[in-house]
Amino acid sequence: MLTILGLLLEIGSVFFILRWLKKNLDLGLNSLSLLIQSENELFQTMEDRLKYVQDHNQDLSRSIETESAIYEVSKELSKSTDEVNILNAFKEKISGIFNTPECFFSDEAPIKNNTDYSVFRFKVQEQETRYLAIKDSGKIDRAKMAVLLNQLELSLKRSRLFAEVQELSITDGLTGLYARGYFLERLKQELTRSKHNNYPLSFLLIDLDNFKTYNDTYGHITGDAILKEIAKILKYSLRQIDMCARYGGEELCILLPETDKEGSSLVAQRLRLSVEEARIRVFNENIRCTVSIGVAEYPNDAQSLNGLIDQADKALYQAKAQGRNRVCSN
Ligand code: GH3
Ligand code: MG
Ligand code: MG
Repeated sequence: MLTILGLLLEIGSVFFILRWLKKNLDLGLNSLSLLIQSENELFQTMEDRLKYVQDHNQDLSRSIETESAIYEVSKELSKSTDEVNILNAFKEKISGIFNTPECFFSDEAPIKNNTDYSVFRFKVQEQETRYLAIKDSGKIDRAKMAVLLNQLELSLKRSRLFAEVQELSITDGLTGLYARGYFLERLKQELTRSKHNNYPLSFLLIDLDNFKTYNDTYGHITGDAILKEIAKILKYSLRQIDMCARYGGEELCILLPETDKEGSSLVAQRLRLSVEEARIRVFNENIRCTVSIGVAEYPNDAQSLNGLIDQADKALYQAKAQGRNRVCSN
């Protein structure tokens, strides 16, 4: 009897133990799966965070790249107020930034069907649209390009504004010589006076030789200083009644009233020699420079203002073609 009772008790305790085990095992499994689930969630958020950081890092490095490109481009564009120089500087910088050696400007929308090129539109003024075509290997970042073109537009507007102000002013800011607009007005008056009094008149167009090389070698600021010094040399070699002006860029011009071609050619030779012999001292450098001069005379070469300028320009072209540092007339 006792043995049966003992057996029943043993079965009961085994059963109890089994139930206890099952209950705890279930609990353990449940908490284990909960743990795995929350770990999964944790990993998911970590992945999300990592992706967020990576994405933002990309945005950040892209915006740093764009910022430095803007800095590079605007630094280069601010070096000149001349439209052609600005466009060339932009083209050069863009080729470097986008690693595309082939790009060109156009006044009209170019090559519509050519998929090798990406075409960008920009404005010089409200009514004046131009186009930039870039050989595109599919890597052109259009957003970045839009920001850079914005810089170009600003520089071109500044250049136009500068030209307008120059036209209105009497003297040129850099050289202190007469400004082109004022000079041309005076040349027109002098031409009328010469026709009326039957006097000759001469017009000289002077261009600095290989000036781009000077800018490239010494920098644009030294280039400006050289230009200023040459203007000084010319100004002090002339008579009171002669007029010397900055025609544009590194081109200067002179009006010699009551002077025929023989006389003005002698003056031009004297000026050319003064520049050649000068040691231009700029920022601790002794620089030597030469000029080419084209001479035109009223009435023998031309009778109108534009004709006179045209003839001087042709003569200057000849002086360049014949080797520079010389005076030519037609
Ligand atoms: P060339 O003997 O044929 O005249 O050669 P060049 O290099 O003088 O002629 P080009 O017309 O090719 O270049 C003129 C250069 O003059 C380009 C431009 O950088 C420079 N220039 C024009 N205006 C200025 C200016 O105001 N300041 C400076 N520093 N440079 C100027
Ligand atoms: Mg020139
Ligand atoms: Mg020149």
